[in-house]
Amino acid sequence: MTTIVTLNKPIIEDWLQQLADVMTDPGELLQLLQLDTHPELLKGKNARSLFPLRVPRAFVARMRKGDANDPLLRQVLTSSAEFTNPEDFITDPLAEQRTATPGLLHKYHNRALLLVKGSCAINCRYCFRRHFPYQDNQGNKKNWQLALDYIRQHPELDEIIFSGGDPLMAKDRELSWLIDELEKIAHIKRLRIHTRLPVVIPARITTALCQKFHASRLQIVLVTHINHANEIDNVLCDSMAKLKTKGVTLLNQSVLLRGVNDNVEVLAQLSNALFNAGILPYYLHVLDKVKGAAHFMVNDDEARRLINGLLGCISGYLVPRLVREIAGEKSKTPLALS
Ligand code: SF4
Repeated sequence: MTTIVTLNKPIIEDWLQQLADVMTDPGELLQLLQLDTHPELLKGKNARSLFPLRVPRAFVARMRKGDANDPLLRQVLTSSAEFTNPEDFITDPLAEQRTATPGLLHKYHNRALLLVKGSCAINCRYCFRRHFPYQDNQGNKKNWQLALDYIRQHPELDEIIFSGGDPLMAKDRELSWLIDELEKIAHIKRLRIHTRLPVVIPARITTALCQKFHASRLQIVLVTHINHANEIDNVLCDSMAKLKTKGVTLLNQSVLLRGVNDNVEVLAQLSNALFNAGILPYYLHVLDKVKGAAHFMVNDDEARRLINGLLGCISGYLVPRLVREIAGEKSKTPLALS
């Protein structure tokens, strides 16, 4: 079996084995990054009790050793700031805890979100679903059958969005079954998959998955969640290229994060790197006000200033739409630029 040698340990090119080997200990992570001489970074380790630390080694390999401000590290490292909560940062900022069937959200007229699986390969500290009651919305065949029944009864739906957690945590055979079932529903035309798993473990894009997408009558759109150009390496580009050759449309959505990508130059590098990887920048989200993530907040005026800055330095089609999700609204809400 081929291996990629990185940091202190070889990374095996099998996504399930990589998944079984994710890092969960902040101390080990900092040691690996030669940051164990920064005791202040460990002060937030108790935030694991709020939301566990979880990061695949293939993602850690893209972090800069010795850099306490590495933008990838900031997205995953526990922080004592997670214990400081302004009143408007709440556990369910998008009022998602009322589902149509367990794991199925029908928020928008023509599209419904199926929370295929409740777990992720990586735990992003800013995640708006970090408090979501996945235990009541388990990704299993019984709940998927209920969701499929609902979808059959709603002809206004033409697109299903696989979400999570991370939907690609489902095994290929589970995804294959779900895709087969959706294909039998005549009014479903498109399948959109929102995922971070192929970013953090590019080996998740298996040959079997590519073949399934290629053979499907559904138009497949895969939306990666990438926040910084350093997340994009050659291995990820190869995985995206495989999807492209199978006719999959590739889009990206990012979250605007303080200390990660709140800078015109960084956002321009991200857009260019995405396009080089065959991915079109689609959305830049302002942060959802979820409890534990206030330290990542960038305010609206600053967000607008960043987009205006981007418009002045990269091609228009590389500038993502600046949006916010408002609970109960029928679509994302664009932030007007002045
Ligand atoms: S991968 Fe997505 S759903 Fe999972 S923790 Fe990160 S932001 Fe949340």
